[in-house]
Amino acid sequence: MNERAESLIEAIERKTNDVKIETERLQSYQASLNCIQSSCKHNWTDAEKHTDTIPGYTTPGDKPGTMGVDFQGPVDIAPSVKVYYTRECKECGKTQRTEQTRPGKQVPSF
Ligand SMILES: [Zn+2]
Repeated sequence: MNERAESLIEAIERKTNDVKIETERLQSYQASLNCIQSSCKHNWTDAEKHTDTIPGYTTPGDKPGTMGVDFQGPVDIAPSVKVYYTRECKECGKTQRTEQTRPGKQVPSF
């Protein structure tokens, strides 16, 4: 076999095994953390408000030359702002995120 190809195959096999071992380790960490978080009584921080601004854009519409009654021209999509809240447990580090509450409501419900 080509020497270069052989050494690459060996390196790939070694790294694949390393990734497998690391993945198993991470799964074990995650399981331990889940166990701690599921038995925690949770001491939440105050809800923190975040806003994501989604810029407006124009859809390209159908290519010129497209025929038919269902022809779709370019459409302007208005920019929008998405509001959400997060909070974190001071004891176990669990985080929660919620979407915007109903209009007029000031306190988010998780
Ligand atoms: Zn907790």
